[in-house]
Amino acid sequence: MKENMREKLLEIKEIALNNINEVTALEEIEQLRVKFLGKKGELTSVLRDMGKLIAEERPIVGQIANEVRDELEEAISSMKEKLSEEMKMAKISKEKIDITMITNKERLGHRHPLLATIEELEDLFISMGFSVVTGPEIETVENNFNALNSPENHPSRDLSDTFYITEDILLRTHTSPVQIRAMKEMGAPLRIVSAGRTFRFDDVDDTHSPMFHQLEGLVVDENISMANLIHTLDIFIKELFGSDMKTRYRPHHFPFTEPSAEVDVSCLKCRGKGCPDCNYTGWSMELLGCGMVHPKVLEYCGIDSEKYSGFAFGMGIDRITMVKYGLDNIRLLFENDNRFLEQF
Ligand SMILES: [Zn+2]
Repeated sequence: MKENMREKLLEIKEIALNNINEVTALEEIEQLRVKFLGKKGELTSVLRDMGKLIAEERPIVGQIANEVRDELEEAISSMKEKLSEEMKMAKISKEKIDITMITNKERLGHRHPLLATIEELEDLFISMGFSVVTGPEIETVENNFNALNSPENHPSRDLSDTFYITEDILLRTHTSPVQIRAMKEMGAPLRIVSAGRTFRFDDVDDTHSPMFHQLEGLVVDENISMANLIHTLDIFIKELFGSDMKTRYRPHHFPFTEPSAEVDVSCLKCRGKGCPDCNYTGWSMELLGCGMVHPKVLEYCGIDSEKYSGFAFGMGIDRITMVKYGLDNIRLLFENDNRFLEQF
């Protein structure tokens, strides 16, 4: 009886292993598991006859049965693994994308380098606690000149320098009138930047255009001093161009600030060492203008100049974009030639 059962078990094992090795699909392997190892499976039905054995034979047959079951379980699970792996690979190869295939998909555009620069500058100032405000490109002479303490005989007011629409209306020559609007509307304290198009009667050459872009900043609060201005611009330049950049302030005159300064920044090519680009001075000249807001400008906007003081700064975004991207001709920014724009 014992020998009988032993043979029967080994026979089941051999048949089962052969069947398992021939399987080609996951469903089949499950069917085999049920057939041999399931509750009504062949191995189970042999074991049901264990009761007919004498007591000494039971452990011996039991051990063989366990070994057979373990072997079959292992064969089934390794075959399952093999089949799933094959299925996965087949699926992947079916889903492979042919990158050489030609499609008619529309090409996506991207930010113009000027807009990218404006957004980078705005983000920088937002991170320093400034709010971004905007104003109209068609302005009053009042906001563009008078409120900014620009004397009647100032050369920038001349017909040959400014696009007048009527006697009182013009295309703004700088973004400063946005500061006037902000001070009138919001009062003090104030911390704003404003970027946008500005217009001057300039002939087009490599560095000039009748339409150009500025970004201006204004801070008005109690106890604001030149030290705050220098510190703010210094951080700004380091954030924009790198921590090794230096700033230099040269006295200048603007009607709307007093004192006023022009700001030079370390030459970006040589980073201050001196090179042909900067005439071996190590400085990029006149990258920004700045100063302490003239008390007359504060008073004009209804802000108490005894209590409040402020600083303002402005920069040409076209110039900064050119320096940043190494361009030598401002026209490239406005011609909208895709061969140029696609490089960014
Ligand atoms: Zn240089």
